[in-house]
Amino acid sequence: MPPKPVLVLGAGVSGLSTGILLLQAGRPVTLWARELPPHTTSNQAAALWFPYLAKPLERVNAWAAHSLAFFRQQLLPDPASGCRPTVVHDLYAHPVAEPWWAAAAGGVYRRLDPARLPAGYRDGFETQSVVIDTSLYMDYLLAWFRRLGGELQQKDVRHIDEALAVADVVINCTGLGARQLAGDDSLYPVRGQTLKVRPNGVQHSILDDEGPNSLGYIIPRRADIVLGGTAQADDWETDPRASDREDILRKAAALHPAFAQVEILGEGVGLRPVRPSVRLEAEALPGGQQLIHNYGHGGAGFTLSWGCAQEVTQLVSS
Ligand SMILES: Cc1cc2nc3c(=O)[nH]c(=O)nc-3n(C[C@H](O)[C@H](O)[C@H](O)COP(=O)(O)OP(=O)(O)OC[C@H]3O[C@@H](n4cnc5c(N)ncnc54)[C@H](O)[C@@H]3O)c2cc1C
Repeated sequence: MPPKPVLVLGAGVSGLSTGILLLQAGRPVTLWARELPPHTTSNQAAALWFPYLAKPLERVNAWAAHSLAFFRQQLLPDPASGCRPTVVHDLYAHPVAEPWWAAAAGGVYRRLDPARLPAGYRDGFETQSVVIDTSLYMDYLLAWFRRLGGELQQKDVRHIDEALAVADVVINCTGLGARQLAGDDSLYPVRGQTLKVRPNGVQHSILDDEGPNSLGYIIPRRADIVLGGTAQADDWETDPRASDREDILRKAAALHPAFAQVEILGEGVGLRPVRPSVRLEAEALPGGQQLIHNYGHGGAGFTLSWGCAQEVTQLVSS
């Protein structure tokens, strides 16, 4: 018997990564999505490998570690992927025994020399990460999915039964859309606004996710530097706000003096799909059908993407 086709819902980083691994595992895959790149939340991400706003810590660490290895082995060797290595400085206003993301990074980090900390910080750690330029990467994933034989259809799914009517295995990677599609009220948006500025020679990424300039980050990419950010819970506004822009500029200048003057190239807003814990589980349905959920990755959809995709692939095989 030939393997049964799988229907993936969603063409963000979760759906495309999952579709690719399923195709590589020999399953025929069709993907339905309401929005395609570049019109997904994933396209709005900064995007750095860093496990932010996602729980539970133990599963997140395992998914993040798996994804980091996958990015290094499969994506960094190909510059067309838009992925490249970056050094990250993660800053703290108080002394910290070890960074909370230590396990995700495989224990690979070192404490920053206090002389290198900006004003207002008492501790900081340096680690090796990966920066993912979404303007290239999302198209790269789409092309990879198609090259492996995946079929893509733009479609707004109003009810999960529409999907279950055509496939025995359905993977729900609809991000914030799962609020309605899976009737999940625990899923909510955490709004993120970013600026893109002209490169100014700063090469490393800088983060503050709990100190005096939280949420502030500087992420140099290939052709620009992303400055962030905001983390506004239950805020559905997708237009940029002038007050947030001013706040982002203030925080960037506080994190590094080179950002006292910047040339703004663009700005954007995305709604992170946050829930108390990432939902990655299989629902067994009557008649042997399988509905697997893979959504709610918060501020870490890229960071967790390949680890989660691998676990979904294992659930489908089993
Ligand atoms: C400003 C900002 C910065 C970020 N920075 C980072 C970062 O540095 N690192 C990191 O790892 N993560 C980061 N994130 C988080 C990351 O962007 C998300 O976790 C990730 O994009 C979620 O991906 P997804 O594929 O689950 O959802 P999405 O990208 O939202 O994709 C969902 C897909 O499902 C489709 N869909 C939804 N409902 C339906 C429906 N009813 N029928 C059919 N299709 C449907 C959509 O059209 C879309 O194709 C950031 C997010 C923001 C906003």
